[in-house]
Amino acid sequence: MNTISKHGLVIIGGGGAGLTAALAAKKTSFETDITLITKDCLSYSPCALPFVISREIEDFGKISKGLEDICKMSGIKYVFGEAVSIDVKNKTVKTKHTEIPYGRLIIATGGNPSIPPIKGAHLRNVYTLHRIEDAQKISEATKDAKHAVVVGGGPIGLEAAAAFRELGIKVALVEGLEYVLCRLFDPDYCQLIEKKLEEKGIELVKGKNVEEIVGADKVMAVKVAGREIPADIVVLSTGVRPGIKIVENTGIEVSGGGIKTDEYTETNVKGIYAAGDCTITKSVLTGKHMPSLLGTTAIRQGTVAGINAAGGHAVFDGVLGSTILKIFDLEVGRCGLTEKEAKAEGIETVTGRVKSTTTAEYYPKGKWLELKLLFEAKDGKIIGAQVVGGGGVAGKINLLTFAISRKATVEDLVRLEYCYTPPLAPSHNPIVLAAENAYRKMKRTREKEKR
Ligand SMILES: Cc1cc2nc3c(=O)[nH]c(=O)nc-3n(C[C@H](O)[C@H](O)[C@H](O)COP(=O)(O)OP(=O)(O)OC[C@H]3O[C@@H](n4cnc5c(N)ncnc54)[C@H](O)[C@@H]3O)c2cc1C
Repeated sequence: MNTISKHGLVIIGGGGAGLTAALAAKKTSFETDITLITKDCLSYSPCALPFVISREIEDFGKISKGLEDICKMSGIKYVFGEAVSIDVKNKTVKTKHTEIPYGRLIIATGGNPSIPPIKGAHLRNVYTLHRIEDAQKISEATKDAKHAVVVGGGPIGLEAAAAFRELGIKVALVEGLEYVLCRLFDPDYCQLIEKKLEEKGIELVKGKNVEEIVGADKVMAVKVAGREIPADIVVLSTGVRPGIKIVENTGIEVSGGGIKTDEYTETNVKGIYAAGDCTITKSVLTGKHMPSLLGTTAIRQGTVAGINAAGGHAVFDGVLGSTILKIFDLEVGRCGLTEKEAKAEGIETVTGRVKSTTTAEYYPKGKWLELKLLFEAKDGKIIGAQVVGGGGVAGKINLLTFAISRKATVEDLVRLEYCYTPPLAPSHNPIVLAAENAYRKMKRTREKEKR
């Protein structure tokens, strides 16, 4: 095991990636001298914020803990403040008040909301939903709001829209592209999700961009295609950019908007690692690099960075974009490539589809479930999955992510052994049924080719 020099390990950022890295480093080598520099005094999962706004989680106290206390309990030094620069040559990190030497460094500065240049975006009651402070302000504003407009139909936009609707607020969701969640799902699955949003009373305004946010001091409306949609609250959910300001002029390589790392999460500068939303990650399937912006990636990368920076050995293989969401009572999930993405990569595919149920068909509390699997036509390898329905989506996405990462084929999934009991799962597993559907299509094609 390599030992760290006398100045120990310094970590910038105490979010999912930074704190996980600190704890992983401690577990790897208890003697490691760790200093965590962070602008935040609370540790929380941003993923929980929409559910506090909707009041499904009682209050913000339930999702947050004092970061200083966590550090104290774990033997980690905690420095509250903003790291403003890194001196790679002299191996120091400067905050506004102090300069901290490091032996190894982990950058885990997260991301920042990307706000489009819309007139009126500065008005009162126009928010982004990124940090706990944003959610606290939004939550306060919902108390006397009747109309909300959410701009952006990605996962956070949908969760915000659903949260407002749960509170009885009239909601319009504006998405510039043709479908909501269209970067994650194919149009057929986007439509299933949109149906649920509309059923619950969310107005979808698609294929149109916001022209202006209208108001005097406070927001009053959002102008889209000449129409003014009333708004007491606006949430701009228009993307997140990796937070890379700290690495400007350091020589640490940035590519595609985020910090570039290798399979050990090390940057091009030896001894400096990076993890979480500030990085770009490699797609396991295409080998292309892009920001992942998922809490799961932050935790996986943070773990690898912490172990390696503390002298251990761990590898980060890349991502398959495994994502799940709960929109009202609808669960949705995906992993790997969509049909659209596969086509753009020039991959010929065969799909397997099934309409199934979450329990045995006759069981009273069963709910519907639709599942689509995507296989490479040339060798039958699974490369993507989409699932929408009333339950059990997370387990299926986890299994299918593993199947993709292990290069499982359609034959492997047709032969899958699974569990069954009427109240929990149908006797015919939907993954097997969808694989059989694809298998039959492949067989027919092969037979046609032989003739
Ligand atoms: C509303 C919402 C819902 C989400 N839902 C999900 C979900 O369901 N599933 C999922 O997988 N992901 C979800 N995500 C994404 C997930 O939360 C992020 O990917 C994850 O939090 C990234 O972790 P991180 O540590 O890289 O960044 P962050 O959590 O942003 O932490 C970065 C930390 O670094 C600090 N910092 C930044 N710069 C400096 C500096 N210069 N000096 C000191 N400190 C600094 C910041 O203050 C912050 O505390 C959601 C995100 C949001 C906003």
